[in-house]
Amino acid sequence: MRILLTEDDAALAEALQFALKQSGYAVDWVNNGAAADEALTQDVFGLLILDLGLPKLDGFEVLRRLRKRNATLPVLILSGREQAEEKVTGLDLGADDYLVKPFSLEELQARVRALLRRGQGSAAPQITYGELSFDTVQRSASVAGKLLALSTQETGVLEVLLSRFGRLVSKEQLVEQLYSAGHEVSLNAIEVYVHRLRKKLEASGINVRTQYGRGYLLDYLVR
Ligand code: CA
Repeated sequence: MRILLTEDDAALAEALQFALKQSGYAVDWVNNGAAADEALTQDVFGLLILDLGLPKLDGFEVLRRLRKRNATLPVLILSGREQAEEKVTGLDLGADDYLVKPFSLEELQARVRALLRRGQGSAAPQITYGELSFDTVQRSASVAGKLLALSTQETGVLEVLLSRFGRLVSKEQLVEQLYSAGHEVSLNAIEVYVHRLRKKLEASGINVRTQYGRGYLLDYLVR
């Protein structure tokens, strides 16, 4: 999953990026509101982490513009301002959650997971289709209770496909969801990850179906 981090405190941004990347997310970092607004109009993200006090365009304005264009992207506000009023304003403008600085990285990670789950239409930490189960906290997949050995890339592909079970996901969308800007990845590489993932899912009864020239989708294997 790809996250846009908007934070003008470079030291904090670096720590957050490190922690989020360790958890397996692709992170794009911008340090002002105008850059955030631009990135949000150009790229596809699974979550926005938004500081309120930002140069060029403040966090409220970024959020206001975002919500005019996109009603569903989950937004987590980070704020140094503890006034209850600001919290209410942020939530009223369409933020999904709010963290007051300073916060622990563990708390941030837990909230990010919860928001991404909700964004995927499921508040439960476990996503299950037939014999296949995906634990969104551990980011691990199992078939009939047996853990699957998946690479980071295969896990990422599975996660994106699961979030849209039964619906088509193009290769370009996979690249956008899995990699941050400036990260070179070929569409051939995506094909390889999908091929390996399909083999590993064989016993689960879940199939990664290819629609030639269009993309992939997960559905039940017909035997
Ligand atoms: Ca700030």
